Amino acid sequence: MTEAIRFDDKVVIITGAGGGLGRAHALAFARHGARVVVNDLGGSAQGEGANASAADRVVEEIRQAGGTAVANHDSVTDGEKIVQHALDAFGRVDVVVNNAGILRDKTFHKMEDADWDLVYRVHVEGAYKVTRAAWPLMREQGYGRVIFTASTSGIYGNFGQSNYGMAKLGLYGLTRTLALEGRKNNILVNAIAPTGATRMTEGLIPPQVFEQLKPELVSPLVVYLASEACQETSGLFEVGGGWMGKVRWERSLGVGFDPKAGFDAEDVAASWQQICSFENAAHPADNIEALKEMMANLQKHAG
Ligand code: NAD
Repeated sequence: MTEAIRFDDKVVIITGAGGGLGRAHALAFARHGARVVVNDLGGSAQGEGANASAADRVVEEIRQAGGTAVANHDSVTDGEKIVQHALDAFGRVDVVVNNAGILRDKTFHKMEDADWDLVYRVHVEGAYKVTRAAWPLMREQGYGRVIFTASTSGIYGNFGQSNYGMAKLGLYGLTRTLALEGRKNNILVNAIAPTGATRMTEGLIPPQVFEQLKPELVSPLVVYLASEACQETSGLFEVGGGWMGKVRWERSLGVGFDPKAGFDAEDVAASWQQICSFENAAHPADNIEALKEMMANLQKHAG
């Protein structure tokens, strides 16, 4: 039997936890004994307006179930206020789940600066601000867990979501570097690409599938990634409907031309199939591994 995962002395901030996936995460963390900061600005799915009741309702639900939580209504773009609120209420921050998000879907040729900027600001700048404010606390206490919410729209692309896809894959870029910088202070950083039935996906997924994609089916992975039991860092996980799996980069073995002899576009064209062949593909785990083939090619043609 696996040991119970508990957060009894831990404080967890979940952004955008007034509904959808964030609410499910908040309820799950509270059930596992965490003191939870339920952040939500309470605006529309397009990022308009504000309403304190979204976060307040979730806090009420947690308290009714015997858990401990406080509401916070700041925008994630004021991340330092959210972290300060956590400190004022509970005196520490152990986990940040960056979950808040909005959509401004438009095909690229109709994209306006305001749609691009707002999606960037909520997802990327917001996640940066909250995490940046919590980071020194995590370093000092030698413990931290950060989860970013990416999306398959970023990993694979999705028609009409250039702004959203940019932001979501950007968060995975942030994950990779923070995982490197956080490791020596026991700060582990991972990203999820969830699928869940929320107001964000309503109408986009066929109703009979939609009703099965309960948001709470995503939360066990988030709770595990945030726990002391988890030693995973730098990971990206697709998750939804009770299924979860890990994503990694795959790169073809590639083709090495002689840099001294010279080569041109025609040589690239002639080798195209081999450049793109995934036979004997590599899965570089870091920058050094990624550069190995390039260095080997230089060495092969040196002298
Ligand atoms: P949702 O709209 O129900 O939840 C998002 C929450 O974020 C809302 O409660 C909203 O009020 C809050 N929010 C928005 N802007 C905020 C801000 N500036 N400050 C604080 N809170 C703010 O949608 P959801 O589906 O639960 O989305 C949660 C996260 O999961 C988002 O980051 C979303 O992009 C991501 N995601 C969801 C799916 C899915 O299938 N539902 C797929 C991929 C990614």
